[in-house]
Amino acid sequence: MGASYKGRFAPSPTGPLHAGSLVAALASWLDARARGGQWLVRMEDVDLPRCVPGADQRILQQLADCGLIPDEPPVWQSQRSALYQQALDALIQHGLAYPCACSRKDIEQALLAQGLNKARHGELVYPGTCRTGLHGKEGRAWRFATEDFGSSAIHPIHTHIAKGEASIAHSVTWTDRRLGPQTQDVAAEVGDFVLKRADGLFAYQLAVVVDDAAQGITHIVRGEDLADNTARQILLQRALGYRTPEYLHTELVLAADRQKLSKQNGAQALDTSSPEAVLGALTLAANRLGLTDSGTRDNRGIALAAWVEQWRATLQSQNT
Ligand code: GLU
Repeated sequence: MGASYKGRFAPSPTGPLHAGSLVAALASWLDARARGGQWLVRMEDVDLPRCVPGADQRILQQLADCGLIPDEPPVWQSQRSALYQQALDALIQHGLAYPCACSRKDIEQALLAQGLNKARHGELVYPGTCRTGLHGKEGRAWRFATEDFGSSAIHPIHTHIAKGEASIAHSVTWTDRRLGPQTQDVAAEVGDFVLKRADGLFAYQLAVVVDDAAQGITHIVRGEDLADNTARQILLQRALGYRTPEYLHTELVLAADRQKLSKQNGAQALDTSSPEAVLGALTLAANRLGLTDSGTRDNRGIALAAWVEQWRATLQSQNT
């Protein structure tokens, strides 16, 4: 297992690291270190309009201040569009992606006409309007053909679906290392999701799946707020013939209003300006992960090595 383990931390540079994102960063780093694996950092700046100039460098500095140093030079998604386009082209070729002319308003109206008001976390379940063609309209976005993926009996690019798995391929079952077994019927609960947006930018779902495969990521450790995306990502992995990594979604740090701590609800940038501040931030993150401060310090005044040991002991007791 050791040498083949590859993990990653994949922040969106929409602002500096905060207490919540440090938990995901630390957990992914600890899991990689505890298994003698590699740990990469990928800047997920695919949604360029949401990115803040300079946040990427600030995040890398904050990570370095915390002693979390990637084993390979970081990559930026904004420079990898050619890879995403290749994957999209492959899906189009196999009839698993189609152009969509619908605006949000069109989708709302179509759902209304069907007497449906299906929304999931504010996202409308796409009613499939353009699945059968554009009806003379101009394509704006590209969507994944979730239904076709499920119903086309044997498709050359998804013959690797594991034995014993549900015969309806769009119903995805996966096991999270902390949350246990999870199931989502992507077609019914999410619908045909967007791969390339109307503004020409690639969607997170496609970019993350292509990059995790291209970088050989074997283990994904990230915040629980992203768990809901996993079924969609697994479907895409199957469609593209990629291996599915193992998943661990870590507990979130909640803000005073019980919402997930995020830049949107005013999370403070992590202070890494002094060894004391770094130790304080890391200790909070480690506590959130169930680790305790053993009092051990390395020459930078941080106790990372002791936490790697604790993490390894937990893995051994869980036998994962
Ligand atoms: N870029 C995503 C975020 O910051 C995380 C993606 C992932 O870890 O899969 O929310």
